[in-house]
Amino acid sequence: MTSGVEASPGAPLSVSQTAIEHFRDALAGALIESRSQEYNTARRVWNASVDKRPAWIAQCSGASDVVRSVQFARENQLVVAVRGGGHSVAGKSVCDGGLVIDLSMMKGVQVDPARRTVIAQPGLRLGELDRQTHVFGLATPLGIVSDTGVAGLTLGGGLGWLNGKYGLACDNLLSAQVVTADGGVLTASAVENDDLLWGLRGGGGNFGIVTSFEFSLHPVESILGGMVVHPISAARDMLRFYSEFSTTCPDEFSTMAALVTGPDASVAAAMVGCCLGPTEIADNIVRPLRAFGTPSADLFNCMSFVEMQSLLDGAFPDGNGHYWKASYLRRLRADAIEVLVEQAIAKPSPLSIIALQHMHGAAARVSGRATAFPHRQEQFDCLILAQWSDPAEANRNIEWARETWERLQPFLDPSVYVNNLGDEGDARIRAAYGANYGQLVSLKMKFDPTNCFRQNQNVVPRA
Ligand SMILES: Cc1cc2nc3c(=O)[nH]c(=O)nc-3n(C[C@H](O)[C@H](O)[C@H](O)COP(=O)(O)OP(=O)(O)OC[C@H]3O[C@@H](n4cnc5c(N)ncnc54)[C@H](O)[C@@H]3O)c2cc1C
Repeated sequence: MTSGVEASPGAPLSVSQTAIEHFRDALAGALIESRSQEYNTARRVWNASVDKRPAWIAQCSGASDVVRSVQFARENQLVVAVRGGGHSVAGKSVCDGGLVIDLSMMKGVQVDPARRTVIAQPGLRLGELDRQTHVFGLATPLGIVSDTGVAGLTLGGGLGWLNGKYGLACDNLLSAQVVTADGGVLTASAVENDDLLWGLRGGGGNFGIVTSFEFSLHPVESILGGMVVHPISAARDMLRFYSEFSTTCPDEFSTMAALVTGPDASVAAAMVGCCLGPTEIADNIVRPLRAFGTPSADLFNCMSFVEMQSLLDGAFPDGNGHYWKASYLRRLRADAIEVLVEQAIAKPSPLSIIALQHMHGAAARVSGRATAFPHRQEQFDCLILAQWSDPAEANRNIEWARETWERLQPFLDPSVYVNNLGDEGDARIRAAYGANYGQLVSLKMKFDPTNCFRQNQNVVPRA
């Protein structure tokens, strides 16, 4: 008996039942098929508008399961998708037909407080890792929403509240264990396969499947964090203030501005920030931001880093449809502010957000060639986040996001953060990898010449 699956679009392939049973027996984790009870839950990813139907989902329990999954996919020429936290908005961690190599059950953490390092498995979410390192008063830079996957975020770069002081997530990646397309297991570090480590720091999942990450840790005790909210009538002034203020912030204070929907259901403007250091010093740093205008709410407070990391979780609940457009914005000019505010007022869904996440300090001081993440200047990650709960509203919201991005074109840089890309074609992928694209192609030809790992923002292996 055989099972019909899609090897690549238009190329159906049959896999014998014996091969499937051998694979199932070899796995320590579960093998889910379309007839399994768990299938619909297992194929679901964070973006509810992604609806793909893989032939199998291998829920891996460790590196040996990942090796077996890669071998099974190779032997049967299957399309492979790799799932960490499942938060790719473009839906890259699930495929139609083929095999999902699901790492989400792999959640081991080993903190070494003396060396200030942590070894983390790829199924961890940000909050799960933060909680473990926080016990020791330590943290590694990740993102700003606690539910996001550590794996995909780190491999694309990882921009979060510690970027000013300690750099991006990928800058803190010391080593990784990687299962390659031929089923081998490699260590990537400064002394072994350093070219692969370079590629993992911003080149996404193109070169293999990371089964463990080793990060450096930093002391992060209490912080002054939170947000101020202003009515939309003050948004233009607030953004003008923010465009200047953000550029004066010391490394300790990382910020973002956002146009959101306030608690009273009206469109509002907010400035959010996380300031490290003793309260008296942090108070002084944050004061001008809190003193600006007449906020309708000031939610700044002393809190733990773990609390800070989940401050924005409520804005991204499970189960909604999403469509994101993004580009870097080097300077926030008055004419760009006008478009941002007009488009925020016009957003068809109260759940949608326009955000400007500031990258500065340590993250901006690394050379653009030192890691695969190329965009190393002080700038804003301009994100147009369309979000809706009713599937019938999808088109209207997607249209709004596209229109907003189009209207912002005169002000946006062509470059884009790879983890914010949708299915936008080769030119945008090249814009995401920037000047490092050629070096990434060479690495791809070395580690994955047949492009086994292509369900990502793909670097195509060609001479
Ligand atoms: C609510 C939300 C908040 C976000 N906030 C931030 C933020 O603050 N900062 C930021 O930088 N980004 C942020 N992002 C973007 C985020 O970095 C990406 O969505 C990222 O892909 C999430 O990683 P994941 O493991 O959850 O994704 P997945 O969907 O599991 O994977 C994403 C990609 O990485 C590949 N991949 C995953 N795990 C591995 C692995 N172990 N080995 C090889 N390849 C792998 C997948 O194949 C896929 O191509 C946010 C996204 C969301 C949805």
